Amino acid sequence: MTKTNWSKRTTLVHGGTRRSQYGEVSEAIFLTQGFVYDTAEAAEARFKDLGDDEFIYARYGNPTVRMFENRLSQIVGYEDGFACTSGMAAVTGALTALLKAGDHVVAARALFGSCLYVLEDVLARFGVRVTLVDGTDNSAWTEAITEDTALVFLESVSNPTLEVIDLAHVVKVAHSKGALVVVDDAMATPIYSYSARLGADLCVISTTKHVDGQGRMLGGMICGSKDLIRGPIEAYMKHTGGAMNPFTAWVQLKSLDSLDLRVRAQAATALEIAQALEGHPKLAGVRYPGLSSHPQHAVAMAQAESGGTVISFDVAGGKETCFRMLNALEVFTISNNFADSKSIVTHPATTTHQRLPQEQKDILGISDGTVRLSAGLEDPADLIGDLMQALDRI
Ligand SMILES: *Cc1c(COP(=O)(O)O)cnc(C)c1O
Repeated sequence: MTKTNWSKRTTLVHGGTRRSQYGEVSEAIFLTQGFVYDTAEAAEARFKDLGDDEFIYARYGNPTVRMFENRLSQIVGYEDGFACTSGMAAVTGALTALLKAGDHVVAARALFGSCLYVLEDVLARFGVRVTLVDGTDNSAWTEAITEDTALVFLESVSNPTLEVIDLAHVVKVAHSKGALVVVDDAMATPIYSYSARLGADLCVISTTKHVDGQGRMLGGMICGSKDLIRGPIEAYMKHTGGAMNPFTAWVQLKSLDSLDLRVRAQAATALEIAQALEGHPKLAGVRYPGLSSHPQHAVAMAQAESGGTVISFDVAGGKETCFRMLNALEVFTISNNFADSKSIVTHPATTTHQRLPQEQKDILGISDGTVRLSAGLEDPADLIGDLMQALDRI
């Protein structure tokens, strides 16, 4: 067994470890902004040609952050990664590092609100042209991506309506026109991510979600080839100041030890809940990529090993009935986050997606009865029992 063929679970515990001269068991945290040099010549040499295990300033890189970058990018299937202050710093960094005025971008319409803002407001201000398509319609991608297109951006599984995109098709069309593919994999999870296998050039992960998984700190990672990461991505990130701080990297590095166990347990619970809710008389519908009733179930299961940790469903009867059900829950927490060890319910129409105009909500399938449910680490029987008692009360 060599480091290159370690399985994900082994890599999650040992991958990318850098031990100091003290031989510590747990990964060390290097809370330092800068680094010292024995001589002026050594400083000059390091600035001239920075080695793989050498650092000069924490905005450029740090040993604890580098361990986190190496370990997470390895398990997602990429050569390298750059860790950022948040998932949005990673999305913005990846896009801004690669695009220039006049470029054309094609993106899926069902995007996380902040990603939509970056594309439609920020990048548009700098002269980037954006075309939004229905991500589930393969022919829409084929039509929209042209010789002019520089980059394609999508969420492999959309939030909150869990649309699944046929990534192999999008990558094939994009690469045939010379466009790069950037995938936001927050929902797909680093464990089940198929972006690398299907040829996405960059995979962006909000480590705030499953990697932290315990509601503590924001983080993000851009994963890709060494050429892209240590080329345009690192250049942009290190000079614009979005690098992750070492304390966050250390906490989230330790979180990787248990990531595989947590995500698999949460996904198994999500499937159990989706099966228990499907067909419930008080619900107008249940969406989960792992259910055969999901419109893109076949694509979802061909791409990924699992339907993931998030479900959405529609309570029949509108907002008031839906709120009554949410307020009757005793184990579930009402919050706007997901992927936490605590099971969470969200009402997207009045919170995360409140500002979207009604017609946009209609296109995305977000109604007043829509609930996004994130499965945590509690006993699935308690969670299903809690949902059933809350539904009984409406
Ligand atoms: C949460 C999320 C982000 C942003 O991540 P932060 O860490 O909150 O900045 C981006 N994309 C998707 C799909 C997300 O769910």
